[in-house]
Amino acid sequence: MLSALEKYDPQIYELLTQEKARQSGSLRLIPSENYVSKAVMQASGSCLTNKYAEGYPNKRYYEGQQVTDLIESIAILRAKKVFKAEHANVQSYSGSVANLAAYAALLEPGDTIMGLSLPNGGHLTHGWKVSQTSKIYNSVQYGVDPATGVFDYNKIEELAKKIKPKMIISGATAYPREIDFEKFGEIAKSVGAYHLSDTAHISGLIVAGIHQSPVPFADIVSTTTHKTLRGPRGGMLLCKADHAAKVDKAVFPGLQGGPHMHTITGIAVAMAEADTPEFVEYAKQIVKNSKRLAEKLLEYGFDLVSGGTDNHLLLIDLRNKGVTGKKYAKALDRAKIVSNYNTIPGDPAPPFNPSGLRMGTPSVTTRGMKEEQMDCIADYMKRIVENIDNETVIEDVGKEVLLLCSQFPVPDHFIA
Ligand SMILES: *Cc1c(COP(=O)(O)O)cnc(C)c1O
Repeated sequence: MLSALEKYDPQIYELLTQEKARQSGSLRLIPSENYVSKAVMQASGSCLTNKYAEGYPNKRYYEGQQVTDLIESIAILRAKKVFKAEHANVQSYSGSVANLAAYAALLEPGDTIMGLSLPNGGHLTHGWKVSQTSKIYNSVQYGVDPATGVFDYNKIEELAKKIKPKMIISGATAYPREIDFEKFGEIAKSVGAYHLSDTAHISGLIVAGIHQSPVPFADIVSTTTHKTLRGPRGGMLLCKADHAAKVDKAVFPGLQGGPHMHTITGIAVAMAEADTPEFVEYAKQIVKNSKRLAEKLLEYGFDLVSGGTDNHLLLIDLRNKGVTGKKYAKALDRAKIVSNYNTIPGDPAPPFNPSGLRMGTPSVTTRGMKEEQMDCIADYMKRIVENIDNETVIEDVGKEVLLLCSQFPVPDHFIA
């Protein structure tokens, strides 16, 4: 597949070869990452990258849409089916742009939005202060209960009653528990606010029926397509039929020009994959794996935000281990265990050197790893945290990681 690259751009070819080896030879525990199938890779690396298709199926501004109209219509149909949604828009370039489009569809600049703050697990685009979303809109943020690390829905309702937002955003980027989207919907309704639900991380669990779906309880649902959903990099919006025209207009021409048809082709393939019993098994195993990892880490004296997990991710509060998130993440990376340092709710440390570590199980689950391998990972993590300055131990763990990776190669149809 890459032979032309090898011939015409050996420098980039060599770097891609290195990255492919890194992805095979490391335990990738960043919860937003995954391995897409070869079919998705081929669809998204296809000749559709050559095509302009501004507009929507059968309403385009360029000719030559005989194939693109069919592909986008199939992607929309499949997305509607797996999410049980009345309408789907598959053109957003990413999850961030999907959120901007959801705001643009229902709000005016200056309207008040109420989202989860970044240090409490929210996404930048939920109105965090460095994001344009906090400049365009009046952003008031909610958090988790600092004592438990989970949502206190009564507090959220109280805040909503006080500030009367035009939109409440549910969903998170670092929240290890199941979210009660129905409750968020009720709170929004009780104050006359729209409810946007951002399911970027957990949409794979939702379509598999493992996590409550917000589709019945939200005006708009946004998601990325590349996290647990295991499609190409992109974004998607789902909504009720009565918001469909507004959502489509907000994406194009409101925010974007030509849709990335090669990505939409990959999304179509990924939605078919998500509609299989194998996908449901994969999603169930993701949760089994993260629960097992949590259990073992707790046994080893790690402190987990909220005390555990219901989904694909874990958030470790490292304060009792006497190491910062950054130092631990870097040591783990030297042992080929790739995670990311993260703030914990109420973090006393600064965001560039926070007290937490975030990790998740989607990628290792795609490789076929199960509970037994989670025990190995927890053991590696224990040894490294206890020997944070001992390069010999870190190197030894790295060798074991390589061995484990070789026993669980990225399935052939999952690497291109
Ligand atoms: C990842 C994420 C996004 C943004 O997706 P990008 O594709 O990186 O722009 C938005 N919201 C949440 C909750 C996310 O986790």
